[in-house]
Amino acid sequence: MHSKNEQTARKTKMQMLDIESIRKDFPILGQEVYGKPLIYFDNAATTQKPQIVLDTIVGNYSTQNANIHRGVHFLSQTATMAHEEARATVQKFIGAEKSCEIIFTRGTTEAINLVADSFVRSQCVDGDEIIVSEMEHHSNIVPWQLQQQRKDIKIKVIPFDERGHLQVEKLEEMITSRTKLVSVTHVSNTLGTVNPVEEIVRIAHAHNVPVLVDGAQSTPHIKVDVKKLDVDFFVFSGHKVYGPTGIGVLYGKEAWLDKLPPYQGGGEMIKNVSFAGTTFNELPFKFEAGTPDYIGSTALAAALNYVSAIGIEKIHAYEESLRLYAEEKMKEIERMRFIGENDQKSGLVSFLVGNIHPYDVGTLLDKLGIAVRTGHHCAEPVMHHFGIEGTVRASFAVYNTKEEIDAFVAGLARVASMFNRKKH
Ligand code: PMP
Repeated sequence: MHSKNEQTARKTKMQMLDIESIRKDFPILGQEVYGKPLIYFDNAATTQKPQIVLDTIVGNYSTQNANIHRGVHFLSQTATMAHEEARATVQKFIGAEKSCEIIFTRGTTEAINLVADSFVRSQCVDGDEIIVSEMEHHSNIVPWQLQQQRKDIKIKVIPFDERGHLQVEKLEEMITSRTKLVSVTHVSNTLGTVNPVEEIVRIAHAHNVPVLVDGAQSTPHIKVDVKKLDVDFFVFSGHKVYGPTGIGVLYGKEAWLDKLPPYQGGGEMIKNVSFAGTTFNELPFKFEAGTPDYIGSTALAAALNYVSAIGIEKIHAYEESLRLYAEEKMKEIERMRFIGENDQKSGLVSFLVGNIHPYDVGTLLDKLGIAVRTGHHCAEPVMHHFGIEGTVRASFAVYNTKEEIDAFVAGLARVASMFNRKKH
């Protein structure tokens, strides 16, 4: 339920957001698809990139490309400085205490694999337990399962209810003396549920159990403050927050990162190497083997600065208004079924229309120039929960508009009536 006060607060936050001018920052949005204006509602999969991000990539390759660290020459030093400034930008964006707590990875997936590998290798013995939730993306399930080949660890699962609400109250009784880590998503990419991370952390920490939070779907939409949340690890992907693909972040509390062994070996992550043995570099380099994506990091920083300039709270309020508007309109469509109806939701809607296969809905919407995602969204356990194969998912970003939602709902109504006609 959204009270009048909440609505007024949202309106105040949204004030002065000039969506038309924001749209102009994204060159791809000017395109037509099959002769129709592109309506891009696949933002949970990846967001489009503003000109400043594109310019940063081209600009850096054009003027300051050189392999970073250890270079004595001008270009190498310039590129190194830009990469380290980007690290500081990420640090500030998520409220980390120190920049050495920011590890650049290829994305959320690699960041979770890094923690799973290093953590289980160094902190777990046979019989220990890792707790995840039933609404995790595969990237927060499979890395832990891979570790089961190494050690006999048990993966326990916090369930969610029919509305997509995580049953956090069950966590307390699930934690035992063998529990070594709780690893949960901040926002579900399938249900849109925003999980009460602070509460999860409070419960886990009361048992001295650290918490990893998958922020792939929260960082682009809600203010993240890792210190306030008191999470031990936090991961996200650049490409979902208007940045480039191939770059992401692992935040870890310094004490934890110090404790964990390196994930990959190679250049950059060492202090000295000999055949008698190797000593490892300090943080953050200990976890960054090989040439990092130093162009990607600066482009990610440009994206985060872009988001900060608009204001993440304003973005959140605006996307929330889009989601509520979409849900209201979609309810008018016959046999509409929402998958994920938690009170706290992010800017996405997962749904089914009667028995129409999600793939058919997606394909027909595509012909109208509307990009949505269909399928299991890399969260098959969520599909198993509802006994369905997949859903259609429309996910919003700051550049989407109510007019686009009107076109989307009109498209859905057409799809629904086509299939209803066919049935008779
Ligand atoms: N976790 C969540 C919640 C996601 O939505 C995604 C991307 N769909 C991932 C992890 C994986 O992100 P990436 O593919 O960028 O590593």
